[in-house]
Amino acid sequence: MPTRPKKQHTYPKTEASGFTAPDYHSRPEYHTARWTWRRKAFLEQPEHVFCVRCKKQGIYKLAKVVDHIIPAEICGDFWDESNWQALCKRCNAVKAAEDKVLIQQHRKGVGGSNLYGRPSQDPAPSFENTHASFQLFEKEGSHGQ
Ligand SMILES: [Zn+2]
Repeated sequence: MPTRPKKQHTYPKTEASGFTAPDYHSRPEYHTARWTWRRKAFLEQPEHVFCVRCKKQGIYKLAKVVDHIIPAEICGDFWDESNWQALCKRCNAVKAAEDKVLIQQHRKGVGGSNLYGRPSQDPAPSFENTHASFQLFEKEGSHGQ
């Protein structure tokens, strides 16, 4: 299997005004009451109060948007909250532009869902993996005692 350098997420440095998300929200789910309340409930959870992308840069900005990490158009399950992330409007606009490229690549059959490091098929858990995560858990657990 050929190895490729991991794609680094880049963040625009410019404070561009009038930077709006492309209108790609074509999924009918976005126009349902279910989405309205699920989205609201998601953003009200303490871990989703702040934009995850801004937080990575040490900026605490209130999240306004629930974004699909793997674009809704290609993620398979629209309602899978493990594929949701809280973003501010600005980061959502950046992400939407990234998604557009991703969706185009997906339609051409390039890349696909692996681009975000979420393989479409999870490898079967091996003993080594289980052992490693158990060790990690032990380490974290002892910290709190
Ligand atoms: Zn943000």
